[in-house]
Amino acid sequence: MKDQKVVVITGGSRGIGAATAKLFAQNGYAVCINYHSNRTAADQVKQSIRDAGGECLTVQADVSNSSDVERLFDQVDQKWGALTVLVNNAGILRTQSRFDGISEARFLDVLRTNVMSSFLCSQQAIKRMSQSLGGKGGSIVNVSSKAAQTGSPNEYIDYAASKGAMDSMTRGLAMEVAADGIRVNAVRPGLIYTDMHASGGEADRVDRLKSNIPLQRGGQAIEIAEAILWLASEKSSFVTGTFIDASGGL
Ligand code: NAP
Repeated sequence: MKDQKVVVITGGSRGIGAATAKLFAQNGYAVCINYHSNRTAADQVKQSIRDAGGECLTVQADVSNSSDVERLFDQVDQKWGALTVLVNNAGILRTQSRFDGISEARFLDVLRTNVMSSFLCSQQAIKRMSQSLGGKGGSIVNVSSKAAQTGSPNEYIDYAASKGAMDSMTRGLAMEVAADGIRVNAVRPGLIYTDMHASGGEADRVDRLKSNIPLQRGGQAIEIAEAILWLASEKSSFVTGTFIDASGGL
C-alpha cells in the first residue's frame, strides 16, 4: 500500500510489546507482531488490532537466530513492501541470582536474546530503510532498561550487562546511519507491571520495590509504549542517539 507506515515489533505478543503494537495501530501503522512461542497471546493482540480496523501480521521467529530474523523481515516485505519503524523490544531475564550463580550458558543465552536480536533485526531494517540503498529512511527504537545503569546487583547482572550493550549499540549505530536518514534511540523503562518479573522468580517484584520509586508506583506498559511511539514518529525528527528514562524518577 502506498505511503503505508509499517512497524515491526519484536516480542509484540505480551507486556510492553503488546501495548506498543496496539498504540502504533491506533496511530495508523500496519503492525507486524513478532513472538517466540506464545501464539495465543500474539493472536489476541492481532485480533484486537483488527477489531479496531487496523492492519496486523503475526510472525513466529526467534529473533536471536539469523535465519528466523531473515524470514521475519521477508514476510513483512511480502505483505507490505515497506518498513518505517523497527522496535527492538524482545527480551528475557532469568531467575534472580548472585553473580557467582550465573552459568556461562545462561549468560550467553541472555546476551543472544537481548543483544544479538537487536543486532540482527537492526541489520535487516537498515538494508530496507537506508537512503543510500534506495530506502526512505526510518526509525529504530531499542527497549533497553534502567538496569543498564544500576547493574542489577544480586538479581541479574547478566541482564543488566545485555542492556548496557544495547545502549552502546544505540549510540554507535545512531551516529553511523544518521546520514542515511535513519534515527536510532532507546527507552530505558524502570519497574513495569508485566509477566517479565515472574520469569525472574518474583511475580510481585514491582510492588515490593515501588516505594523506592520517586513517583511511588510501578509503571504500566502503555506508559512505555507512548515513549516508544514518540521516538519512532516524526514528532521526534531532530532526536537521535538518545535515551528516554521512563522509570518514575529512578
Ligand atoms: P514480557 O512481558 O516477558 O514479554 C516478553 C516478550 O518477548 C514476549 O512477547 C516474548 O514472546 C518475547 N520474546 C522473548 N524471547 C524472544 C525471542 N527469542 N524471540 C522473539 N520474541 C521473544 O516482557 P516485558 O516486560 O514486556 O519486556 C519487554 C522489554 O522491556 C524487554 O526487552 C525488557 O528487557 C524490557 N524491560 C522491561 C521492564 C519491566 O519492568 N517489565 C523493565 C525494563 C526493561 P512470547 O510471548 O512468544 O514468549
